Amino acid sequence: MNATGDVIVVGSGASAVQAAQALVEAGRTVTMLDVGHEDITYAALIPNAPFSHVRQSDHRQHRYFLGDEFEGIPLGVLGAGPQVTPPRQYVVRHSDELTPTQAPDFAALESLALGGLGGAWGAVCFPFLEHESARCGLPAAEMREHYEIVARRIGISGDRDDLEPLHGQLEALQVPLEIDANASRILARYERRKAIFQREGISIGKPLLATLSQALNDRQANPCYDMDFWSNAGDSVYRPDLTVRQLQKSRNFLYRRPYLVDSFTETNDGRVNVRACALDGGGIETFEARRLVLAAGALGTARIVLRSLRQFDVPVPLTCNAHTYVPCLHYRNLGRPPCERCHSLAQLTMIYDPVGDRQHLTQGQMYSYRSLLLFRLLKELPLPHRESLRMMRELAPSIVIWVIQHEDYPTADKHCVLRQRPDGAGDYLEIEWQPSATETASQRSSERAMMRAMRRLGCWPMRPVRPQHGSSVHYATTLPFDTADKLLTTEPSGRLRGTKAVYIADGAAFAYLPAKGLTGTLMANANRVGQQVARTMD
Ligand SMILES: Cc1cc2nc3c(=O)[nH]c(=O)nc-3n(C[C@H](O)[C@H](O)[C@H](O)COP(=O)(O)OP(=O)(O)OC[C@H]3O[C@@H](n4cnc5c(N)ncnc54)[C@H](O)[C@@H]3O)c2cc1C
Repeated sequence: MNATGDVIVVGSGASAVQAAQALVEAGRTVTMLDVGHEDITYAALIPNAPFSHVRQSDHRQHRYFLGDEFEGIPLGVLGAGPQVTPPRQYVVRHSDELTPTQAPDFAALESLALGGLGGAWGAVCFPFLEHESARCGLPAAEMREHYEIVARRIGISGDRDDLEPLHGQLEALQVPLEIDANASRILARYERRKAIFQREGISIGKPLLATLSQALNDRQANPCYDMDFWSNAGDSVYRPDLTVRQLQKSRNFLYRRPYLVDSFTETNDGRVNVRACALDGGGIETFEARRLVLAAGALGTARIVLRSLRQFDVPVPLTCNAHTYVPCLHYRNLGRPPCERCHSLAQLTMIYDPVGDRQHLTQGQMYSYRSLLLFRLLKELPLPHRESLRMMRELAPSIVIWVIQHEDYPTADKHCVLRQRPDGAGDYLEIEWQPSATETASQRSSERAMMRAMRRLGCWPMRPVRPQHGSSVHYATTLPFDTADKLLTTEPSGRLRGTKAVYIADGAAFAYLPAKGLTGTLMANANRVGQQVARTMD
């Protein structure tokens, strides 16, 4: 038995690290248990230089752009793959074997990495509006304070523009990063015809991004090298491993890996035992603490809870924002050279509010395509390779992609179940996820309205691409917040119902997903839960 002090936090993703930081700041001793894969192959190879310089001069570029095993060339069904480039693939390493899932129609992407999925995230970081938080089960008024704490900690840049009423205010906002030539032209066109767009429920502005426009502690401002899909110069984009490394300087924090947490039990004297497998060959070990905070991702946390409470074959809800890629030719930009000084993260955000009541928003982020490289597009073209290449070289600086995301709420046809293998050899998560015809119809209607707006903005939509369900990797609702006393739900405080000392700090507890990246809110809520847990030990 390993005695660990006050609190065990499971995971090192965006949720886990914010809960841990709140606990450490409250003076509690924290042991973080994590599998903790890292990239040991590519990071050191990537020069700290602009994309065009790298393309012209680095003789080793094929290694990180394509991958030593060509793992950067996606050949299968389109999922979240395009953004998970070779230097980021450590994020999903070994999760198929260690956290098995049976989900033929759902792209369940889980991470066992140091920093979790946050090692690959796109850093779009919006707060939820008050009614969105309330639908999630979060205490809306309380959340403001936690958004501000997290924004100050991680650094969020953005503008106070037409989007502010649709995503809520953040005081601790750094100035926005400069946007590229495509985005500037599109935004200027929107500004000129704003009244028409807004009459149709469309608002456009700059995204809130968890990347720095000004130095913060020992991190640097984004250098605008257009290399953000491949590297993280100056640690400008917030990634949760940065917080782990910072917490490791505190005497009351211990990061322990590689441990795959299996289950927990509570003892009669109010303590929690956590059973974990040491993946370096050390076998099963048990850790003991006064409180347990689970933040293994909505799917990972569900596995641990369902296994611990022996709730096999019991369906729990699962939500995930549906999303659609709309590649567009921004014809007003044709003939202009690519923008040399830019970042590769989202350049613009479009929010569609069909009724004008902010209740059911749809959101789209616009990316310029360049640094994701042409080979991804070439295989989609019906022309011979040589002609496609010539054509795409001319068109590429004017290709933009809007990624549209829809809200999601639990329904009977979207759930997961933990199944035991008949031979006693472990368990696996089975996912069935089918949106209703009404949901699909409403999503298509919003997409049509947004594509109409894109045309007016000078972006000619090509065929929309709808990746497999689950590809947005925004998972939630497996153990939803509920005020009613029901098994497999989470109390508003974050405590797992039916337990005395087990808390949920990740998306498992969110009862609803608005059409916004959830990670900013995951972090704010995790900070709230961390503070609550610390208070229960006073
Ligand atoms: C390509 C991509 C782009 C994205 N872009 C955005 C975006 O722009 N905006 C946004 O809001 N969201 C985005 N997301 C989603 C975002 O990354 C996730 O919502 C967020 O990172 C989830 O954080 P988490 O800490 O809750 O879980 P995770 O990141 O899944 O972390 C889970 C942690 O738990 C550990 N763990 C899991 N199981 C166990 C176990 N049994 N034992 C021990 N440790 C375990 C893992 O090692 C990991 O450290 C994106 C995701 C991807 C993949």
